[in-house]
Amino acid sequence: MAIAPYTASEIDAFRERGDAFNRDMLQEYYDHFAGFKETLDIEPIYEEYEDLTRLETAQRLEQAPTELWRFACEGFLGNLTRSHQAKAAEVEATLEARVDGESFPYRMLRVAMSNESDRGKRQRLDEERIRLMDEHLNPLYLDAYRIDRGAVRELNAPNYYELYKRFGFRLDELADECRAVLDDTEKLWEDEGDTLFRTRLGFGLNDAKPWDVGRLFRAPELDAQYPADKMLPALEATLTELGIDIRSQANVHLDLEVRPSKSPRAFCAPIEVPGKVMLVIQPIGGKDDWEALFHEAGHTEHYASTSDDLSMEGKRLGDNAVTEGWAMLMQHLVTEPAWLSRRLDVPNVDALGKDGAVSLLYFVRRYCAKLLYEIELFQVEDPTTVRSVYAELLSDALKIPVHPESYLDDVDGSFYVIGYLRSWAFEAQLRDFLRSEFGNEWFARREAGDLLRELWSVGQEPTADALLKDVTGAKLEMASVGDRIRERL
Ligand SMILES: [Zn+2]
Repeated sequence: MAIAPYTASEIDAFRERGDAFNRDMLQEYYDHFAGFKETLDIEPIYEEYEDLTRLETAQRLEQAPTELWRFACEGFLGNLTRSHQAKAAEVEATLEARVDGESFPYRMLRVAMSNESDRGKRQRLDEERIRLMDEHLNPLYLDAYRIDRGAVRELNAPNYYELYKRFGFRLDELADECRAVLDDTEKLWEDEGDTLFRTRLGFGLNDAKPWDVGRLFRAPELDAQYPADKMLPALEATLTELGIDIRSQANVHLDLEVRPSKSPRAFCAPIEVPGKVMLVIQPIGGKDDWEALFHEAGHTEHYASTSDDLSMEGKRLGDNAVTEGWAMLMQHLVTEPAWLSRRLDVPNVDALGKDGAVSLLYFVRRYCAKLLYEIELFQVEDPTTVRSVYAELLSDALKIPVHPESYLDDVDGSFYVIGYLRSWAFEAQLRDFLRSEFGNEWFARREAGDLLRELWSVGQEPTADALLKDVTGAKLEMASVGDRIRERL
């Protein structure tokens, strides 16, 4: 029996319910991660909005704007595995590891590893992390994968990969571009990665192990250049020069309070777009923390400047490469020599700029390989058959061994990987444009701020490709990321 598509007024009602569902979810995430409540209670929210996640809802929206159809499909799938998600979060929050007679919460193992200067201890921490994950989390992930796989067929797609292609994700074209980036930057990573390992850790890329990577990027020697007490003033001064007074933005809520269980990492929760956007910070200092704050501030200003007149999908859904692109534009200022010279009194701006480029190179290569892997993963019947493919693709890209056990843990779902990949290209090309229009210190020009606010106001209605084309006339290309990296090396 054919299923009647939603009428225009039913679609509007769905938009309103979807907006409220997002609002309630984000409020709950905010309350939990900002340290107001211990538990993360998303199950009652799923129950309250049960009408949004029915199979029939997704089926009836197939002819509606794609973003709404995708939102309904993701709701349908997410709801089927919500107990798995809750269980995985609980396991992660409660597992304890014992290493060298010392006890570590599972979620702190990565942090402990990157703060550990003793290589043997790092190895023991990592091996215990992997053992616990394989024993306690992989069975949950595997079960959720199988449920998803069956449910996708009810959405009339043979598999998850084909479903996302129907949503307009250009996965194969992007995979081709990623292969080209991997080829094109292979030698560069071998040389620059090797130099960075030797300088920081005293051995080359050939000897690097999985437990060394976090330590490499932790770089405690840079902490002095990025002190905790200068973080927020640097952000405020940067925004002021762009014409934004963050303290007077009525819809931006800066949460600076110290709470014991507050997330140590900055995050943005766009509870209402554009009405109520939370920027949550607990400044610790160090390059990582600065980058996280600027990244989240990019999301915050984007959502807070989004026009209230847009549709729900234009404000909240759409192409995530757009909001990630705005976040990257702000994040990369932290390692931009021109910005460092202007904002921070540090002696070695070129070294910091180079450092930023090598980090970006690592992450871009990692995400390129992740996309190639996820395309395989989401087509197979039995994911355990591609466990070794994960390790091969990733270690081939990074020239560092990779644990095959992470083959499900290292997957973001919804092909979010392409949001990041394309956001790097968006940032590289837009930054080029801003520099050609406003000069190398574009971030200190009021006119650049005016342009950004105008671009932020369209939310995520246009895709990153359309937005870039509109502003610069250029096509979004992954190759631009390689060029941006080379500029500093
Ligand atoms: Zn982000």
